[in-house]
This record gives sequence, C-alpha cells and structure tokens, in this order.
Amino acid sequence: MKLREMKDAKERREAIEAATGVKLDHVSRFTFDEESAMKKNVENLIGATQLPLGAAGPLLVNGEERLIPLATTEGALVASVNRGCTAINEAGGAKAIVIKDRMTRSALFRVKGIGEAKALVDWVNSHFEEVAAKTGEGSRFLKVKKIKMWIVGRNVYLRFECFTGDAMGMNMVTIGVHNASEWIAEKTGAEYISASANMCVDKKAAAINMIEGRGKTVLAEVVLPDKVVEEVLKTTSDLLVDLAYRKNMLGSAQAGSYGFNMHVANVIAAMYIALGQDAAQSVNGSIGFSLFERVEGGVHVSLKLPALEVGTVGGGTGLATQHEALEMVGLAGSGEPPGSNAVKLAEVICAACLAGEVSGMSAQASHQLARAHKELGR
Ligand code: NAP
Repeated sequence: MKLREMKDAKERREAIEAATGVKLDHVSRFTFDEESAMKKNVENLIGATQLPLGAAGPLLVNGEERLIPLATTEGALVASVNRGCTAINEAGGAKAIVIKDRMTRSALFRVKGIGEAKALVDWVNSHFEEVAAKTGEGSRFLKVKKIKMWIVGRNVYLRFECFTGDAMGMNMVTIGVHNASEWIAEKTGAEYISASANMCVDKKAAAINMIEGRGKTVLAEVVLPDKVVEEVLKTTSDLLVDLAYRKNMLGSAQAGSYGFNMHVANVIAAMYIALGQDAAQSVNGSIGFSLFERVEGGVHVSLKLPALEVGTVGGGTGLATQHEALEMVGLAGSGEPPGSNAVKLAEVICAACLAGEVSGMSAQASHQLARAHKELGR
C-alpha cells in the first residue's frame, strides 16, 4: 500500500479499509478544505479526528469579555475552567500582560578551536545589523531582536530571538535563520552545521525556555475577595494559600518540575487544539508558575507562563473549525498593528489558565476534586 502515491483522502481510506477490514465512516467526515490541508498541514491525508469542543466563560480579560474554547476528552475540565471564570469575573476580571515577545531558533557552527569560536561571536556581534537584515529578507514581518551566543568547545550556538507578527513564527524563523547562517558561513569560513541545534528549544522541556522565555512570556493576575472564594469556589483564602505553598511550591521543587503549577497543561492543550496552535508546543506552554498570596480581604493569584508559542495566522489557524474558534474569541487573522492579535491571544490563554488554576486549586483545597471527576468525568 503506497499511501504517498494515492491521489486523495478517499483513495487512501478505501485502500486502508480493504487492507484492514476497518470501516472509516467517522474518519471520512470532515468539512475543512482537503486541498489546502494537504498543502499546508498534513501529508497522506485520510480524514479527520474529532474531539469534543466546549466553551467556558466569557472571561473578563483586560476589560474585554472572551469566550474560552477548549477541545478536550477530560470530563470536568470545562466545568472547572468555567467556575474559575465566574470567580475571576466576580472579582472584576483578570489582568494579563505579555512582557516579552520573540520566537527563537538556534543555529550551530563548527570552528577550528576556541580562538576561532570567540572570533565568530565577535564577528556576529559587530555585524548584527547585516545578519538581522539577511534573516528578515524572506518575510514582511520577521525582525531579529537579539542574537545570544554560547560556545562549547569548537561549537558556537547562535540563538536568534525574533519578532514574528501574528504568526507563532516557527517556519518563518527557521527559514530566516537558515538563510542568515549560510551567509555567515560564507563570510566567516565557519562550518554551518544546523539551523536548529536544540538551544532553541522547540518541543522539548528545557530550563532555557523557563528562564529566558520563548514565544510570548505572559503574566496574569486577579485578587479574589474572601467572599468570592467562599461563595463561588467553596473554600477559603487561607486553605488556598497553604495548599499552593505546599503543593505548587514545595511539591514541585521536590519533584524537580519545570514550572510550579497545578494543571496549566490541561488548559494549554485544550486551547491549542481548539485554536489551531501546534499541539506539540504545549510542552513549553505548560511551564507555569502559579502563585497564591494572602492579601487583606482576599487572595492574590498570579500566573507566569514564560514560553507560550502562539499565533493567529499560519499553521493550523486557517483550518475551518480552528478558525471559527479564533473568531469566537475575537482574535482571528492579522492584528492591527501586526502582532497585536497574537499578543492578545497569549493574554487570553494565560488568563484562562489562571481560571483553571483558581478552580482546580480550590477543588483540591476543599477535597472536591475526586468528587467532581466521579460526577463529570466517568
Ligand atoms: P507560516 O504559515 O509558515 O508563516 C506565516 C505566514 O503568514 C507568512 O507567509 C506571513 O507572511 C503571513 N502573514 C500574514 N499576515 C501576518 C501577520 N500579521 N503576522 C505574521 N505573519 C503574517 O507560519 P509560522 O508561524 O512561521 O509557522 C507555523 C508552522 O510551523 C506551524 O504549522 C507549525 O506546526 C510549524 N512548525 C515548524 C517548525 C520548523 O522547524 N519549521 C517547527 C515547529 C513547528 P510573510 O510571508 O511575509 O512572512
């Protein structure tokens, strides 16, 4: 069976059905444009996988109401995020802010020895403007902000940090870095080994993303009054603060976790899938620091997501259901100015994760977690 040589999804399905005896009735039903998906998103297309899609909210983020689409098979998740939204809204809404915005790729060069390695770093620093121009040549949006460099023996790693407009940017940056690296090799004589040398670092849990950030670095916060904690979340501020210290901080520290939170990954994965983001990037997106601090009359809850790699154009964002979900949030396509939609999307996702933390932590603090999963998830 040569799936690659078959002309369309139907022919491949029929071949698979004949070979396996499995009827692909459900797989065969989809509404996205087959040709466009084959060109941009997938090879050897045979159909589509369906996932239930729920909506939580609206959630008040920076004064605007946003619905929160979640594609998930985990019963109780949407209900929990929804409860978090209610609590945050009753507290006046969440504030969210992107504090860094840059996609990264790290090129690798091999040189003769450590002297040449130092010389390459100096050359790149003194030719930054030209290297940046070469990197941005193929895109209207790509702009290099910084190049950070590391030397290990005869290897020199160049971590390019780039603004990518409303695109998550991974294709854009990879192409730009490759072009610039060929040019650097030509000019310096250094041997260009790879456009992606794992200091980027894409789709692998790594301290560099937690510390330096990747994509959007986002903060969100809310101050929940004691009354809201008690009436909506059915627990107390003191119990929440105590649990957060012992679980999110101490437990995570003892486990050596990258990021100290309860279940950011749940909201990240469900929103990434619903909104056409690259689901594998939930690896970095799920690094999160969720903090609960006692303040007068309530609890200050905040979340830092250092590496949210998201966009509102490119990748899976053009697929039919994913595009509709982005429209539902009010953030489909290019922003004005370019880049502003992706920034807002990152802020909405961070605020939705905050809602997940608020509700999930409350469920644990008051021992409702197992009961909710028994009632809603089985
Ligand atoms: P892309 O679809 O490759 O590029 C974005 C496109 O949208 C560009 O053609 C860009 O124009 C255009 N565009 C229009 N309006 C824009 C705006 N306001 N802001 C930014 N761009 C705008 O998307 P990408 O984000 O660079 O790459 C995403 C894909 O990369 C995903 O499918 C992901 O799965 C995949 N990926 C790739 C790698 C890799 O190593 N290559 C790794 C991980 C994931 P210009 O042509 O002028 O730039």
